[in-house]
Amino acid sequence: MIDRMIRADAVIIGGGVAGLATALATPGDVVLVSKSDFGHGGSTEWAQGGVAVALAADDSPQLHASDTLRVGLGINDQQAVQVLTSEGPRRVQELIRHGARFDRNAKGDLSFGREAGHGLHRIVHANGDATGAEIMRAMSAAVALRSNVTVHDQTYAFELVLDSGRIVGAVAVGPEGEIIQYVTPSVVLATGGIGRLYSRTTNPVEVTGAGLAMAARVGARLIDLEFVQFHPTALVSDLDPMPLLTEALRGAGAVLVDDQGSRFMAAIHRDAELAPRDIVARATWSLLEAGRSVYLDASEAVGSEFPDRFPTVFAAAQRAGLDPRVEPLPVSPAAHYHMGGVGVDLFGRSSIPGLWVVGEAAATGVHGANRLASNSLLEGLVFGARAASSVTGSLLPAPRVVPAIPSPIVDAPGAVREVRSLMWDRVGIVRDDSGLSCAIDRLDQLSRHLTSGSGEAADMVLAARLIAISARSRAESRGAHFRRDFPATGQPERRAFDAPDLATVA
Ligand SMILES: Cc1cc2nc3c(=O)[nH]c(=O)nc-3n(C[C@H](O)[C@H](O)[C@H](O)COP(=O)(O)OP(=O)(O)OC[C@H]3O[C@@H](n4cnc5c(N)ncnc54)[C@H](O)[C@@H]3O)c2cc1C
Repeated sequence: MIDRMIRADAVIIGGGVAGLATALATPGDVVLVSKSDFGHGGSTEWAQGGVAVALAADDSPQLHASDTLRVGLGINDQQAVQVLTSEGPRRVQELIRHGARFDRNAKGDLSFGREAGHGLHRIVHANGDATGAEIMRAMSAAVALRSNVTVHDQTYAFELVLDSGRIVGAVAVGPEGEIIQYVTPSVVLATGGIGRLYSRTTNPVEVTGAGLAMAARVGARLIDLEFVQFHPTALVSDLDPMPLLTEALRGAGAVLVDDQGSRFMAAIHRDAELAPRDIVARATWSLLEAGRSVYLDASEAVGSEFPDRFPTVFAAAQRAGLDPRVEPLPVSPAAHYHMGGVGVDLFGRSSIPGLWVVGEAAATGVHGANRLASNSLLEGLVFGARAASSVTGSLLPAPRVVPAIPSPIVDAPGAVREVRSLMWDRVGIVRDDSGLSCAIDRLDQLSRHLTSGSGEAADMVLAARLIAISARSRAESRGAHFRRDFPATGQPERRAFDAPDLATVA
C-alpha cells in the first residue's frame, strides 16, 4: 500500500509564499511537498496589486494596523494584527535581500500603490501588476539554494497521520501515482485557500481547500470559516478562473459604471469605488442579480498607459477580445480569499500538536471579517517565518500503527461541478437560512457518496460543507458574511469550532 516511506524533521505542504517563507527559515531536513511544479501553482504567483507594508516615510505599523482593524470590523485578533504590521517591514526587506525586485521611482525609492481601505499609499508592487510572479521567482530561487530542503513537486498530499493525539506524518500521491508516507514530527500546511469551491473565482485550480479538509479530518480547531471574500471586479468572459481586475485599477482612478454608463458607488459609500471590498461586491452583485450589467472603466484614468502599468490585466482583457484602453470591461464579483481557516496561534500552531498552518489556509485572526487589500502576501511572509521559528525538528520513531490509507479518488468531475455551483448559488455573496440548509443537505448527500476514500473531490465536499455550516450558524451580517435574513451586525465574536462537532451538525 505504501510505496515509499520518507523521514524528515519537517514536511511543508504547499509551495506558495507561505510555504516558501517557512521553508527558508526552517532548520533540519525539510521536505516541501507541492501538487504543482516547484515555483509555480497556487494563488501567490497570480497576485497582482502587491504587498501592503508600512515602509513609506509617512506610514507606520500603527497606521497600517488601524486600517486593518477598521476594515476587519471588530473580529480581528489585535495581537496578530500588531505582529503582522510591525514585523512586516523586516520581512519585506528580507524578501528584497532574497532578490525580489519591486518597482521603484526615478530616485530609486520603493514606489507605493494604494488600494481600498488603506489610508495612504502603502502597497509595494513588481512589474506593475505582476507582484506575485516576482515573489515566487525570488523565493523559489532562494529555497532551491537551501541544501536542507528537498522538493517533492507534482505530489498531492491527501491525509495527515495522527498517533496518540499528535501529528506523526502525512500521506501523498507522487508523480507516478506512488503512495508516499512522510514520517515527521512537524507538518506545516501551506495549501492556500478555498476559491475553487466556487464556480466564479479568481483562484487557480490548485486552490481547493485541501488543507482545511485534511486538518478537519484530524479534528483541528477551525475558525471563522464563513468569511469568504468576494472580489468585486473579476472579468466576465468564458475563462475559468475569472481574470482578476486588480483593485489597484480603482486606486488609479478607474470607475464602476452600470449598463447606462452611470457611476453607482458614490451614492453607496463615501469612499465610492474604494469602499471596502464586501460593500463594493454586494453593490455590484445586486445590479447583476437584477439582470443589469456592471463595467470597470479605466479608459480615462489609465487609458493608453494600460499595457505598461497593468500588463497582466491588459493581457487577460486582450485574451477576452477587449481593449481596456478604450472600452469598459464587464465585471462580476468572484470568490477570492478565505479569511477563516484552521485556527492557529501567533506562531502558526494549530490545536493539534505537530501541526502548523500558515498562509491563506490558516486563520491567524489578522483579517477579521474582511481582509484589507494586499495583506495576505504579507501574512504569508510574517507568519511563515514565525512558524519556522517554532518548528523544532527532532525525528520521531515511525508511527506505532500505520493507519489504513484510503485510496484517493482522483476524479469526480460531476461532484466538483455541483459543489462549485451550489457554493456560488447558496453560500455566496448574499446568504440565508433556507439556501444554506439546502446546500448543507446536498453536500451531506455528496459526502456520503464519496466516503469510500479521500481525494480532491471529497476534500472539496468536506471543505464546502464546513463553510456552509459555519455560515448558517452565524446569525448576523458582518463584513464578507452577509445574511439576507439577519442583515444587522451583532456583538463582535470570533467563532471557533472543533471539526468533529462541525462535521456532525446536520
Ligand atoms: C488573482 C489573485 C490576485 C491576488 N492579489 C493579491 C495581492 O495583490 N496582494 C495580496 O496580498 N494578496 C493577493 N491575493 C491573495 C494571495 O495571493 C494569497 O492569499 C496568497 O498568495 C496565498 O498564499 P499561500 O502560500 O497561502 O497559498 P498559495 O499561493 O495558494 O499556494 C498553495 C500551495 O499549496 C499547494 N497545494 C494545495 N493543495 C495541496 C495538496 N493537497 N498537496 C500538495 N500541495 C498542495 C499548491 O500547489 C500551492 O503550491 C491574490 C489572489 C489571487 C487569486
